[in-house]
Amino acid sequence: MNSARPEQVDLLVQARWIVPVVPRGEVLREHALAVRGGRIAGLAPAAEAAAVWQADEVLDLENHVLIPGLINSHGHSPMSLLRGVADDLPLQQWLEEHIWPLENRLIGPEFVRSGAKLAMAEMIRGGTTGFADMYFFPDVVAECVIDAGMRAQLCGPILDFPSIWADGPEEYLDKARELCERFREHPRIHIAYGPHAPYTVSDAQLRAAAEQAEVLGAPVHIHVHETAAEVEDAVRENGRRPLARLEELGLIGPRFQCVHATQLVDEEIAMLAAAGASVIHCPESNMKLASGACRVADLLDAGVNVALGADGAASNNDLDMIGEMRSAALLGKLVANDAAALPAPAVLEMATINGARALGIDRDTGSLETGKYADLAAVDLGRLNTSPLYDVCSHLVYAAQSSQVSHAWCAGRPLLADGRLLTLDEGAILESAAHWRKQVRSEA
Ligand SMILES: [Zn+2]
Repeated sequence: MNSARPEQVDLLVQARWIVPVVPRGEVLREHALAVRGGRIAGLAPAAEAAAVWQADEVLDLENHVLIPGLINSHGHSPMSLLRGVADDLPLQQWLEEHIWPLENRLIGPEFVRSGAKLAMAEMIRGGTTGFADMYFFPDVVAECVIDAGMRAQLCGPILDFPSIWADGPEEYLDKARELCERFREHPRIHIAYGPHAPYTVSDAQLRAAAEQAEVLGAPVHIHVHETAAEVEDAVRENGRRPLARLEELGLIGPRFQCVHATQLVDEEIAMLAAAGASVIHCPESNMKLASGACRVADLLDAGVNVALGADGAASNNDLDMIGEMRSAALLGKLVANDAAALPAPAVLEMATINGARALGIDRDTGSLETGKYADLAAVDLGRLNTSPLYDVCSHLVYAAQSSQVSHAWCAGRPLLADGRLLTLDEGAILESAAHWRKQVRSEA
């Protein structure tokens, strides 16, 4: 190829700042990012871009920072329809007296479809292009994700007892394997095994899930050590802490996604580090349910990959990853008793590249590097609450609001442009949410 001739690309995004996340802390000023075939073709100073690339479309974002699309590494998207239905309760009472009875009456493919669309629309508006989801009917969520153009890791739910999704232990496993096989080659859908929690799944079922996941190379995503009561009950009933039990059953390895982990002793942090496992930190859900606080600074110091999740909107109550970054930073400092803990660039990593690593998709997304998918978000920093600007990462984590996200792309496809959703019908989603509100209220 003649190097003097500009290379043809689909899209060139010129932004005042680009934060590629890898390498850490780098802020590029007046740069352009080129997209070809859904992937990042390269980055270059804006002044040189015209000599390098000839683009079908050029977008100039003069007050914006371009970042990797945010990754919400844990949630239950259909539960957005239960947002605010039962607040101010501890985890077990919230689940057993409110959420589970409501779900038993309402869940079906239509509930899941409506809730997933509501969740995805909210996430895209906040710059999130990838998410991990754990819920019944992941096949229905997958259809919604494909249509909306997002990227997702969907769990095949694993329980022992019958539910609307499966009649018993075998069927949960069979359905998870079928999902893995069905989406094996899909560029944007990834399947994980999702045992709900150590206290809802038996040893035999956990072991079987671990074995199947290993054979298929699939991740295991599970709520673990969410509260002190969970750990105390387990010690009383099983004679050991849940993480020790999961380790004995063969679940803990590089594809293990340990969600919550608010109760960790030093040995458990060392064990997770040695295993190459990831912790998915959900600060707002943990605070709202008064579940406890994850030792994020200690985990990061030990070399554990820590990603960030909003959890379901029934316990958060929003899916705003910019807000979640701020909560993670502030709570992380408080827990560590150290203002230097969890600096802004480290927290941005948790919401981007660390999420991609946790989900096993970091070769394809999580940072703005040539060859990765163009999963991008643009944030308008020319607003009162982000002025003046001395440090872009500081504003993204400590001052920005999700309403400042103007554009988002997943694999080069625009999902949000000038604050307008392009792949989801916001009016229809709001109408559907109002319809489900009536159903929930009449059941509550
Ligand atoms: Zn959860």
